[in-house]
Amino acid sequence: MRDQYERTIEYLRLSVTDRCNLRCRYCMAEAGVAWKSPEEILSYEELERLVRLMVTRLGISHVRLTGGEPLVRQGIVDFARRLRAVPGLRDLSLSTNGLLLAEMAGKLRQAGVDRVNISLDTLRPERFREIARREGLPRVLAGVEAALKAGLEPVKLNCVALGGYNEDEVVDFARLTLDRPLHVRFIELMPLGTEYQWEAWRFVPAEALRRRIEAAFGPLAPGEVRGAGPARYLRIPGAVGTLGFITAMSQHFCADCNRVRLTADGYLNPCLGSMLATDLRAPLRAGAGDGEILRLLTEAISLKPERHQMEDLTRPENRQRRMSGIGG
Ligand code: SAM
Ligand code: SF4
Repeated sequence: MRDQYERTIEYLRLSVTDRCNLRCRYCMAEAGVAWKSPEEILSYEELERLVRLMVTRLGISHVRLTGGEPLVRQGIVDFARRLRAVPGLRDLSLSTNGLLLAEMAGKLRQAGVDRVNISLDTLRPERFREIARREGLPRVLAGVEAALKAGLEPVKLNCVALGGYNEDEVVDFARLTLDRPLHVRFIELMPLGTEYQWEAWRFVPAEALRRRIEAAFGPLAPGEVRGAGPARYLRIPGAVGTLGFITAMSQHFCADCNRVRLTADGYLNPCLGSMLATDLRAPLRAGAGDGEILRLLTEAISLKPERHQMEDLTRPENRQRRMSGIGG
């Protein structure tokens, strides 16, 4: 499936829930979040029907389960197994905060999940509490170990760079890659949602992080990793793992974007930085046939904008969107 700018769309980020067991400051309010009601959330049968159509008829080959926190939704392991059975699905991955991974990594691997991205913004317990507003660092670290042990490879750690908060930890994060097959990716903070503290947080360009790492370890060498996506990968010479830099803001990669997003309540979002959303739940529940759903999906994908405009802080739509609802 190609969009109007001749980009091949082959990657679906599938949010299975808007709920989460953490409250990361840049993603979710601490209290008063207006959760979707259970009736608003698509059932696994509904999600599977959409995925099946997108994979078998529109050429989507990679599905990533995300949220909110995907592992808090009951039945997620069985759902992963059902998706794995869809013919044509080459890659099934998961984005998680890792809190429940120690218990679930082996079952997820057995169900057919290929690999995981684990979000981790700090290696210090007191900072974890401050950023995620919950306890949990030891459990996340146990989850990282369990993912490695289960063979959910490659294991990527996603670290959002928060100026004045965790940028002094980049060298510690980089050190994790020296003797373990871990792929640490530094993600530039995106100014989305009302949770984003527009004045308090400094944006740190990925380039500044790279310079800090090079000051400690010397020049980085090129690195490669499976399921590369938008990150640029480098490696400390001789290290087992790699370092990735996701420059969504300082150097957007929209021209190569191959993804669309489906929210847990059944809206197809062609771009993280736009309000465009096509309702698929209403037609699904009104009994639409496959032809009609495919027409809506094709139309929604073709609306994918040329690029995001998240850097424009005056755009009200950037404040109206939150990552936990879209799936990151
Ligand atoms: N709960 C799972 C997790 O944390 O990995 C999956 C959903 S979460 C919304 C997906 C990713 O989005 C996480 O890596 C998170 O750090 C990232 N994210 C959330 N808000 C962000 C923001 N404002 N800027 C950059 N990344 C953000
Ligand atoms: Fe939850 Fe992930 Fe958002 Fe953190 S980033 S609040 S773990 S959905």
